[in-house]
Amino acid sequence: MATVRDSMPSFDLYQPADLDAALALAGRLGPAGWLLAGGCDSLERFKDRHKTPKAVIDLGGVAELAGIRADGDDLVIGPMTTLTDVARHPLVRERFGLLARAAGEVAAPQIRNQGTLGGNIAQDTRCWYYRAGWTCYRAGGNLCYADTPQGRNREHAILGASRCVAVSPSDTAPALVALEARLVIRSAAGRREVAAEDFFVGPDRDITRLTILKPGEVLGEIRLPPAWAGAPWAFEKVRDRPVWDFALVNMAAVLRTTGDRLDKARVVLGAVAARPWRLAAIEAAVAGRPRAEAAALAGRLAVAEARPLSHNGYKVTLAQNLVFRAIAGKEAA
Ligand SMILES: Cc1cc2nc3c(=O)[nH]c(=O)nc-3n(C[C@H](O)[C@H](O)[C@H](O)COP(=O)(O)OP(=O)(O)OC[C@H]3O[C@@H](n4cnc5c(N)ncnc54)[C@H](O)[C@@H]3O)c2cc1C
Ligand code: SF4
Repeated sequence: MATVRDSMPSFDLYQPADLDAALALAGRLGPAGWLLAGGCDSLERFKDRHKTPKAVIDLGGVAELAGIRADGDDLVIGPMTTLTDVARHPLVRERFGLLARAAGEVAAPQIRNQGTLGGNIAQDTRCWYYRAGWTCYRAGGNLCYADTPQGRNREHAILGASRCVAVSPSDTAPALVALEARLVIRSAAGRREVAAEDFFVGPDRDITRLTILKPGEVLGEIRLPPAWAGAPWAFEKVRDRPVWDFALVNMAAVLRTTGDRLDKARVVLGAVAARPWRLAAIEAAVAGRPRAEAAALAGRLAVAEARPLSHNGYKVTLAQNLVFRAIAGKEAA
């Protein structure tokens, strides 16, 4: 299948000036309307003819969707806030340093200046077969090209695969899951709020998308509750090069400790499955233990259920080491 990058295919462009207008448009256009945030992911796909929407709804003029504010004890981030603003904002840095770090680790400064937090968590997978337009399972076909003996699957999933072995590429998604963020989803029909953990879906649930967002729905707010405000955290992203590169594995954790004892932790891995992979069993196993003992246990047990592919067995060891270091406090801020 040819990839054409010479020009942008035409589409109808809508530029709503407020949220009500955006929701009405999204509802009216349904699957024919593509929501555009910073465009870092979207425009590339349009130019590649991988996605050819008839209509694009540019959210850039919707002031209600941008900015960072305190609302009671919650910190509320508009999905149209750029990754740079998330990484630099004093309230985010002070209360949720984990998210500031994760946002600051995305790609390169140019992409962080243009790309938004909402776009970062709603972006699609980077599996190159799929992005190049191969008719694999995720694209409606009947084969996974990555999960074959000859498949190029070094970057693919070690957990949660069901026909498709693509991974969630977002650096901020694991941080939001660790911080127990809540996501407000808006539509012309109303509003619903879900835990970040329930926002992301794996191929066992729906192989055609990575989030629960349906046509006509707009991510409206990212709310950070006070539960983990100010808690020690750890974030590590391992990539091939320290520029412009997606994670091979990333790890986000928040911890509560008393002296040398680990009281409670939330540990989430990215780029190992199609959704951020929370290590709930490990969290339960380590709670209340001396930190060194907890770290050894967590490192040993992490991703025990992994099923690596032909070229990504290294991710198992990598994930185990990242989890060990997070619990041991070697990367905690
Ligand atoms: C060279 C390169 C390197 C990259 N490296 C990394 C990396 O290391 N780590 C990483 O995490 N990402 C990386 N990315 C991806 C990049 O961060 C994301 O593409 C970017 O954050 C997307 O944000 P955006 O605002 O540009 O979204 P867009 O491209 O505009 O949108 C992305 C998707 O989100 C949907 N969307 C956006 N906003 C909303 C909303 N409010 N409601 C509902 N749906 C919405 C869009 O419809 C679209 O499907 C890289 C991208 C490039 C091009
Ligand atoms: S990993 Fe998923 S997206 Fe990639 S080729 Fe296989 S089915 Fe398609």
